[in-house]
Amino acid sequence: MSCNIDDILKITKTYLNKNDNELIIKAFNEAKKIHSGEMRHSGDEYICHPITTAYYLAKENLDAPAIAASLLHDVIENSPVSIKYIKDKFGAETAMLVDGVTKLNKVRIKQNWNFTEKIINHITGRQKKIFEQHVDNLRKMFLAMTKDVRVILIKLADRLHNMQTLKFLPKQKQKIIAQETLEIYAPIAYRLGMGELKGKLEDLAFPYIYPNEYKKIKKLSNSIFPKKENYIDKFNEILRKKLKETNIKANVHGRKKHLYSLWQKINKYHGDINKIYDLVAIRIIVDSTEDCYKVLGLIHNNYKPLVGRIKDYIAVYKPNGYRSLHTTVFGPEGEIVEIQIRTWQMHEQAEMGIAAHWHYSTIKSDAEKDKNIKYKNPQTVWLKELARWHDKIQDPEEWTSGLKMDFFKDQIFVFTPKGDVINLPADSTPIDFAYSIHSEIGNKCSGAKVNEKMVKIDSILKNGDIVEVLINKNSTPKKDWLKFVKSAKAKNHIKAFFSNN
Ligand code: MN
Repeated sequence: MSCNIDDILKITKTYLNKNDNELIIKAFNEAKKIHSGEMRHSGDEYICHPITTAYYLAKENLDAPAIAASLLHDVIENSPVSIKYIKDKFGAETAMLVDGVTKLNKVRIKQNWNFTEKIINHITGRQKKIFEQHVDNLRKMFLAMTKDVRVILIKLADRLHNMQTLKFLPKQKQKIIAQETLEIYAPIAYRLGMGELKGKLEDLAFPYIYPNEYKKIKKLSNSIFPKKENYIDKFNEILRKKLKETNIKANVHGRKKHLYSLWQKINKYHGDINKIYDLVAIRIIVDSTEDCYKVLGLIHNNYKPLVGRIKDYIAVYKPNGYRSLHTTVFGPEGEIVEIQIRTWQMHEQAEMGIAAHWHYSTIKSDAEKDKNIKYKNPQTVWLKELARWHDKIQDPEEWTSGLKMDFFKDQIFVFTPKGDVINLPADSTPIDFAYSIHSEIGNKCSGAKVNEKMVKIDSILKNGDIVEVLINKNSTPKKDWLKFVKSAKAKNHIKAFFSNN
C-alpha cells in the first residue's frame, strides 16, 4: 500500500458519486496539512497511516463520511484542531465519527501492567481474575461508547495498520499494543463476524505476546503446510471435475488455518497435531443455499464422512452470524480433510461480518436468491440493540436468548486519571466513583473534576469520562448525598458513617 490518495479514489469512484469523492479529497487535503512534518516510527510520513486506514475501508465500500473520518481520525489528538472545526468544514456526520474514534483512543489496557508471557500462561487466582475483569470491562466500554458501528470499523482498520507497523515501535509499547489487540480488538472483530480480520489481528499480535510459542508453531507449520497444501490442491482438482459433471457452478479453494488459531487448537488437543483436520481446509463456494446441500450430498456420496463432524451452520447459524456447512471426510488415500460449503453471500459475511453490510457490489445476482431465506443477521440485531440501549429504550422481549452475551444495560464505564476502568451503575455521580475507589476517599470527597473540568459532586457521569476526586482531610459525608448516589456501595458507606458518628 502506497501513501497515495489515488489508490483510494480508484476504488471509491466505483461506488460513490462526485460529491462523495470530493468530500474524501477535501478530508485528505486537510489531514495532509495537519499531519505535515509528522513522521511515523517506520520513517513514513504520518499521512501514510490515515491513508492506509481509509484504504482498508474503501475496500469494504464504506460510505463517504466514514472514509473522510478515517482520513481525519488522528487529527484531533495530534493537533489543536477541534471537533467543531471538523463539523463546520466536513459536516456533522464526519465530525461525529472522528469524535467517536478519538474517544475510543482512551480505551487502554493498564499502562503499568507488567506484560510478559506470564500474564495469561502463569498468573492464577485473584490476579488473573482481576486481569480478566479489567479486559472484560475494556471490551464492554469500547462497545458501549460506540453509537455508530462505523466508528468501530475505523478503529479496527486503524489497529490493523498499527499492528502491521508494530515492529518499528519501542519494545515495551509493542507488548501493550499487541496485548490489547489480542484481548480487545480481535474478540470485537469476531463478535462482529469479521473472521478474516480477527485472524489477521491475532497472527500479527502472536509473536509479540508468545514469542517462543510463535517460533515453535511457525517451524511446525513450515514443515507440514507445504505437503498438506499439495495434497489439497490435488483433491481440489478432483472436486472441481466432479462438480462440473453435475453442473454445479462452484469455486473450490484451500484455506490455511491462521497460526494463532492453530496454536490454540493444538493446545486444546494437548499438542497432538494429528487431531487437527482443518490445517488446510477445502472451501467450496456456490450460488445458492440449495447448491450447498447438493454439494454436501455429492461429497458424502464419494467420500465417507467422519461421524459427529457434520455441522449445519446454515440451518442453525453461530451466534456471531457465521453460516456454512462443515463436514470432515476421508479424502483420497484415506487422508482426513475438512470441507466447508457456503454461498457467496455467506462467504462475504463470514469474512467481513458487519462490514459486508456496505459491500453490496460484490454480492452476485445469483446469490440474491438467498434473500428469500429468512436470515436476520445477528450482528445487525445485536448492534441495533446496542443503539437502542443508548436511547434508553429497553425491550428485553426482542432480545433472543442466543444473543444475550455480556450485555451491559444500566452500566457505565469511566476512567481514573491513571487510566483504570471503573464500572458503575448508570447515572452514577462523582461520589459513587469516589466510594468505588475506597470508602475513605468517598468520606473525604470535597469535589471532583470530570475530563479535567471542575463539576458538581452530584453531576451525572457518562461513559468514557475521566474522573478525578478532590479530597479534603477535614471533609465528611453529607446526608444529602443519599438523595443522588446510585451505587449500593456508596449508600452503605454513607449510612454506616452516620450510624457510627
Ligand atoms: Mn491512528
